[in-house]
Amino acid sequence: MNTTTSESRTGLVEGLMARFPHIPPEAVLKEDLLRTGIDFDDSALTDNLDGEVKPKSYFIFSFDQKPLAQLGEAARRRPPEEIALTGGPYALRRTIVSVRVNPDSPYRIARDEGGSLLLSLDGRAVADVGLPPMPEYYRHELANGKTVMETAPTIQWGYLIYLTVLRLCQYFGAKEECQFCDINHNWRQHKQEGRPYTGVKPVADVLEALALIDRYDTAKVSKAYTLTGGSVTSTVDGLAEADFYGRYAQAIEERFPNRWIGKVVAQALPKADVQRYKDYGITIYHPNYEVWDKRLFEIISPGKERYVGREEWHRRIFDAADVFGARFVIPNFVAGVEMAKPFGFATIDEAIASTTEGLDYFMSRGITPRFTTWCPEPTTPLGRDNPNGAPLEYHIRLLEAYRGALEQHGLKPPPGYGVAGAGNAVFSVSSFMDTLAPEEVTVEEAVPA
Ligand code: SF4
Repeated sequence: MNTTTSESRTGLVEGLMARFPHIPPEAVLKEDLLRTGIDFDDSALTDNLDGEVKPKSYFIFSFDQKPLAQLGEAARRRPPEEIALTGGPYALRRTIVSVRVNPDSPYRIARDEGGSLLLSLDGRAVADVGLPPMPEYYRHELANGKTVMETAPTIQWGYLIYLTVLRLCQYFGAKEECQFCDINHNWRQHKQEGRPYTGVKPVADVLEALALIDRYDTAKVSKAYTLTGGSVTSTVDGLAEADFYGRYAQAIEERFPNRWIGKVVAQALPKADVQRYKDYGITIYHPNYEVWDKRLFEIISPGKERYVGREEWHRRIFDAADVFGARFVIPNFVAGVEMAKPFGFATIDEAIASTTEGLDYFMSRGITPRFTTWCPEPTTPLGRDNPNGAPLEYHIRLLEAYRGALEQHGLKPPPGYGVAGAGNAVFSVSSFMDTLAPEEVTVEEAVPA
């Protein structure tokens, strides 16, 4: 490693790599890319669905650090969905990173004189960049002209089919929307730009898109699907939340029995509703609790507090374990929002202590939360006030705390995420899987004997 001043971003990254040698350097760089975003040279953009590189699908949130209208060429020619980093001065093992665009980032991807794509930080090359190939199933359209990319995009290097079947959340406005979430704004901006962006995806469209994936994904890279979208506080198409999302699972499992692992990201619902998810064919349930601290939960997720309440949300997570089995209830939290100004913890120590308390609370009962790295999207209250996200050191210490909690509670990585470990992990929106020992927990293995 070179000797860079501690003020530069390179100095920060390398300083943390040196201070936390037991955290893979791949994870340190990945966390910084996820919280900061990347500036893309025009030569690193895709030709949308006409080229050889899989474009960014905008599968639920924008995950960009500037609005589409300010992305220039990257709004006309999409960036890639993900990148695969290797080599460079840190000798990186293959690291899959979700793409978040930020024209002001110190990270930049461009081609060198020989035409190779490189990631640079502060102007110095730090990794070779591989791009995801266009999957054959993206080259085929539905009979009504809709694209597979819009209807059933795949992420995590093709592992996960991401079915945002409801593009809007019924938690609406400042008093209900989660303060880090731009789902409703993202819907508006894509509509304004005239992009195809379906509010409620018809079941028939989803099945048709999945049939194309099933047909052309002959190597069976796709292993799971996630059904998700906004929270349903009243009804959609006359259906309450469990039946709205459940009808897709039922149709998918009838048509493609056990072809993929079925997951749903939804509110923490009462046990009878959760049982319906199970009966519809879902295997893994994500009732995301977003942030652990009681005061912050009420501020950051006011809709969840209002419609369910924090204690009830947690109680329902445990009730769901009776239905699915503890290993199959995997609530997410958004790593970093607990440090967002003006309400968040002032110190990294306090934030890590709080989040670890939450990890212990769930893991001591056999439930394995997971997390995604906060992307401070500019149209959200937290992103507007914290354009630089949370400190990188917080993210690295969280990886350390998460791994320590898993070990302390004798738990393995959550099932349904592929192989863990640096060089293996495909989970692209956090490096928690990159940080764990190399092993895979299959759904079959996770079932208690
Ligand atoms: S529940 Fe919160 S995070 Fe989920 S879509 Fe609604 S506002 Fe966004």
